[in-house]
Amino acid sequence: MDKYRFLKIKADILAEGIQAPADALEGVGRVYKEQNHGLFGWDFEDHAGTALPDDFLLPDGTTVQFRKSSRSPYKAYISEEELRLSKGGEDICEIKWIPRPDYYSRKTSTGKKMVKIGQVGGQDCLFFCYQNYCSHFARGRQCLFCNLNPTLKRYGSVLKKKEIEDIGEVARLAFSEGMVDHILLTGGCFSHQKEIGLVSETIAAISRHTGLDNVPGTILPSPPRDREEIKRYHDTGIGAIGFSMEIWDTKLYQAICPGKSQNTSHQEFVRAIGDAVDIFGEGNVYGVFVMGLEPKKTFLEGVRAVTGMGASVVPFVWSPNPGSLFEGHRPPGGDWFVDAITEAAQIVNLSGVRQSNRNHCYKCDGNSLLYDALRME
Ligand code: SF4
Repeated sequence: MDKYRFLKIKADILAEGIQAPADALEGVGRVYKEQNHGLFGWDFEDHAGTALPDDFLLPDGTTVQFRKSSRSPYKAYISEEELRLSKGGEDICEIKWIPRPDYYSRKTSTGKKMVKIGQVGGQDCLFFCYQNYCSHFARGRQCLFCNLNPTLKRYGSVLKKKEIEDIGEVARLAFSEGMVDHILLTGGCFSHQKEIGLVSETIAAISRHTGLDNVPGTILPSPPRDREEIKRYHDTGIGAIGFSMEIWDTKLYQAICPGKSQNTSHQEFVRAIGDAVDIFGEGNVYGVFVMGLEPKKTFLEGVRAVTGMGASVVPFVWSPNPGSLFEGHRPPGGDWFVDAITEAAQIVNLSGVRQSNRNHCYKCDGNSLLYDALRME
């Protein structure tokens, strides 16, 4: 069998989207985990008022993000009481929605719905965004692929700002249910000192509520200005740190991320990654990219440079989602993503950078292909 069979299906679905009729969606939001738009909306179309699955599993355990598109040839459908996937009407394989965590129906001691505070990404990653707001939108300087503010306005499915103790309570319940084993923590725009303080207190609350001395997972803060700031993040006890530099090509980065590139240059990101590797250790630092917006050549140069510094890479597959300035555009085809990611996986493997499943893994990665490709090598 083609060892990349399920990687190819995943890449194609992320690029084309998927549709599902009402009977296939039975139980979503009750038995199965629904989308709650914890950060961005990744669907090709809005679906306010309809619960859609967050993600689903292919037969080999590959996690695929559900991206609604009524034009897609891919369809989730029911056949003899089994959930299956078809393309252009031809059956492909069985698929499974992911179970809904029990805590999604619970409230914090302050009466807030827990699902509005933290969500499970994929099969095992507890995700928190401490503030769903980015000030670049107000000045028309948002990244062209981003729909953070419009998504909150459209769905209102999460709290814009979360209280630290509420995050701790959600983490306690989520970890005790046994579904999650690491976290991903990110936020909006802050002054550096404020963000470091907030992240430190949040990790401390998660640690206190879960009993974990060192919290497994990754934080994605704004790039720190110096090594001292990175040390303060490291002192929180979090396992890993990542920086969303989005695009490797300098000129494209400036064009696609006008506000962000004004605040943080390409070189500042590179320096922050290098310093973070010194402090967090090899394999515990991530350069985060949006894949599909720059040529394969420069994307792979970025993978080579970042892994050459001892860091890892998380490349999310771009979705031209509603509310972003790229709404209505088309991403490259699934084949392009497969070619680029299998080459990226070879570069990562050759670099010898250790990949820690404790911080980030293929199970939490419905919208990236790298960790699938790495386990298939
Ligand atoms: S910096 Fe860019 S990607 Fe991040 S939230 Fe703001 S607009 Fe979106």
